[in-house]
Amino acid sequence: MTALAASLPKVSGRLTAGAPLAPLVWFKAGGAAEWLFEPADIDDLCTFLADLDPATPVMGLGLGSNLIVRDGGVPGVVVRLGKAFAKVERLDGTTIRCGGGASGILVSSAARDAGIAGIEFLRSIPGAVGGFVRMNGGAYGREVKDILIECEVVLRSGERRTLANADLGYTYRHSELPEGAIVVSATFRGHPGEPQAIGAEMDRIAAEREASQPLRSKTGGSTFKNPDGHKAWALVDAAGCRGLTIGDAQVSEKHTNFLLNLGGATSADIEALGEEVRRRVKATSGIELEWEIQRVGVAK
Ligand SMILES: Cc1cc2nc3c(=O)[nH]c(=O)nc-3n(C[C@H](O)[C@H](O)[C@H](O)COP(=O)(O)OP(=O)(O)OC[C@H]3O[C@@H](n4cnc5c(N)ncnc54)[C@H](O)[C@@H]3O)c2cc1C
Repeated sequence: MTALAASLPKVSGRLTAGAPLAPLVWFKAGGAAEWLFEPADIDDLCTFLADLDPATPVMGLGLGSNLIVRDGGVPGVVVRLGKAFAKVERLDGTTIRCGGGASGILVSSAARDAGIAGIEFLRSIPGAVGGFVRMNGGAYGREVKDILIECEVVLRSGERRTLANADLGYTYRHSELPEGAIVVSATFRGHPGEPQAIGAEMDRIAAEREASQPLRSKTGGSTFKNPDGHKAWALVDAAGCRGLTIGDAQVSEKHTNFLLNLGGATSADIEALGEEVRRRVKATSGIELEWEIQRVGVAK
């Protein structure tokens, strides 16, 4: 840490050594970031990354709704975009440009107010734009690939670059965003709609979510990707894993593709539970589940 501290560039935003990440992720577990950087603006981020030793790893952090941060923490620099990156602006009757730190609720509400339909599904995904773009977030038959025109990123080198939808190599819950790149904004396209009807659709989606998912729990959302032709939750259920626990980590009773931290789970407990579920599903169905949740950092 000391060697890195001596070589870190000056910033206008906030740079914190040994910043605990557990409070910043939905699971409320895991270790600290060696450094947490909250840039003041895009220029601050560009200058910092350009001056940072290229050997230092850099990782973006959104709202931590799809992350297991391992208990030994994350080496290098974790970049978190704050309020300065949470603006949403209407470009025309069908497009909006959103800061990388804008939440799904903010983006879908702004689209509704601008009379832009087709973006309602972001209402149900509890992350921010950077995470949506990176994960190709989706729900209710739509995903980011269907609405993204382009995004602006700051590459690990500090260079600003605009990437078009086709540059991101989107597949199910996956993009080929360059390693260490930070998404600072995204332009989404919908179609003209009535704000009232858009609002009603958002309410319907929110109510449906409330009924089917453990939204007020310490969780990471869908743990495993749906294998072709299968639902991950049904495979987990058929393997007898509903309610299974390791330490304080549990497979949700309400939605079996969700893992929960019941209070005192470590990230090691949560990850071990996920691996146990994968083992049991493989044994009963022959299908190998693939993690959707991003697991980052080092074990303790
Ligand atoms: C209750 C619940 C319900 C959910 N429902 C859905 C759903 O319906 N559909 C769905 O797709 N997902 C769902 N998720 C998962 C999650 O919300 C999405 O994957 C979301 O896109 C993650 O956004 P985030 O900002 O929280 O990203 P994080 O969890 O913070 O990070 C996820 C990944 O994105 C990267 N990242 C984050 N921000 C940036 C950035 N600015 N630049 C570059 N990389 C970045 C991180 O490094 C990491 O690899 C759910 C999660 C929960 C807890």
